[in-house]
Amino acid sequence: MTALSQLPALNRFYQSLPNWYTALGAEKLPSPVLVHANLELAEKFGLSEEDCASPDFVHLVAGNQFPDWVQPLATVYSGHQFGVCVPRLGDGRALLLGEVESTAGFSYEWQLKGAGRTPYSRHADGRAVLRSSIREYLCSEAMHGLGIPTTRALAMIASPAAVYREITESAAVVLRVAQRFVRFGHFEYAFLQNDLDGAKALADFLIEHDLPECQYKENPYLSMLETVVLRTASLIADWQAVGFCHGVMNTDNMSILGLTIDYGPFGFLDQFDPNHICNHSDTYGRYAYQQQPAVAYWNLRVLGSVLLPLIGDKDITIECLDRFPSLYQHAYETRMGAKLGLDAWLGEVDGQLLTDVLALLAKHRVDYTRFWRAVCQVNASDTNGDAAVLDEFIDRAAASEWLNQYRHRLQQQSSSDANRQAQMKRVNPKFVLRNYLAEEVIRQARDEQNYQQIDELMQVLANPYDEHPTFERFASHPPTWASHLEVSCSS
Ligand code: AMP
Ligand code: MG
Ligand code: MG
Repeated sequence: MTALSQLPALNRFYQSLPNWYTALGAEKLPSPVLVHANLELAEKFGLSEEDCASPDFVHLVAGNQFPDWVQPLATVYSGHQFGVCVPRLGDGRALLLGEVESTAGFSYEWQLKGAGRTPYSRHADGRAVLRSSIREYLCSEAMHGLGIPTTRALAMIASPAAVYREITESAAVVLRVAQRFVRFGHFEYAFLQNDLDGAKALADFLIEHDLPECQYKENPYLSMLETVVLRTASLIADWQAVGFCHGVMNTDNMSILGLTIDYGPFGFLDQFDPNHICNHSDTYGRYAYQQQPAVAYWNLRVLGSVLLPLIGDKDITIECLDRFPSLYQHAYETRMGAKLGLDAWLGEVDGQLLTDVLALLAKHRVDYTRFWRAVCQVNASDTNGDAAVLDEFIDRAAASEWLNQYRHRLQQQSSSDANRQAQMKRVNPKFVLRNYLAEEVIRQARDEQNYQQIDELMQVLANPYDEHPTFERFASHPPTWASHLEVSCSS
């Protein structure tokens, strides 16, 4: 086992991009307690359960004391927040500790979220509260379990230190991990500073270490943009397919590597509503569920415009951006076709089948996750497997009608029910991080310092396509108390 002090650090961002950050330490946090360590991820760095429980590790996550390899820094970036350009944002409460090589030879940046004030904190306190930290911790691992590209969570500590939001809360820090934490907003910053050298240094760095496939293309910067466009299309299709709403798709919360990043007021759909707004602060629904593909496209156009000086040709940049809608549509149809268990996507016919079912779900306010899991039981040639779907509807006749249309479609393909159903269960999760599940955990953690259910939920969410008979309750409809839950930007 590798001791914490001996982790193989690379810290290439620190070494190669001096103009992109301010080096600084974390602020100390009193009496940190380990809330959870993600042992599956820790093991990838050769860290054992014992290592993660050690005072050295807890104080690293709290930002109180670092091993020698840590070279903490906060990076600077800009962003469009709700459509408005903000020239200087940056890591206001995040601290990049360094880059660490896993035992398999891949490198990951380690970052603390909530580590205290930085030069980019503006008026804010640099902290994160327990409630939002638990949500980020659980959701990033839930997304990973679903197979969706994301930053990950390695560990989390809580401290009794007071943090002032609408009410007085307490502090927490998440140690999160990603191949790279670079955002669209980083390139916006260079553009706004008129700093072509800075943009080039960052792009060259990313291309060398993270996007080597772009290196040998005629125009590596165009190739980088193409990669971001493609990965973003795929990511948003993933989100739509599982019913995930990010909530704050500002350009500073968009990852150049196509990862889900910065979990704030996110939410998974319970009852299907295409206009669902998960962020209580999003008055006009800019980031509503069905807006996400269009917003991603908008954000990519911002990225394209600030990469233009590097790419050097407006026409090819526009051409590249213009491919987003069809790339997205293809990715989305692939995901939804798989959810339906279709061997191939038959254009209009299947488009109609999908439109019909989504309209049906919206009209009858059917639970999105439970519905798709139930569809995995439908048979092609008899109605024996229909009950699970019908049980999700009050108006069973309306559901029956669609099921017959669906069955007719299934009869056109040759795969057996058993094969198709098994495949469908690998793309239609039984478990997602519903708001009420996160809320239950938060209440136990906040009121009783009881962190047990975090671990239980983590186990289930790590394998959300499997059955977990002991934890069947995590797949239940939200209880009535949860219908008033509101999540805002406050975190
Ligand atoms: P977000 O909306 O969480 O993505 O954050 C937008 C910007 O505000 C980023 O630059 C964050 O670093 C910064 N920020 C958010 N919350 C805080 C906080 N409590 N302290 C300092 N900076 C923050
Ligand atoms: Mg952010
Ligand atoms: Mg945030």
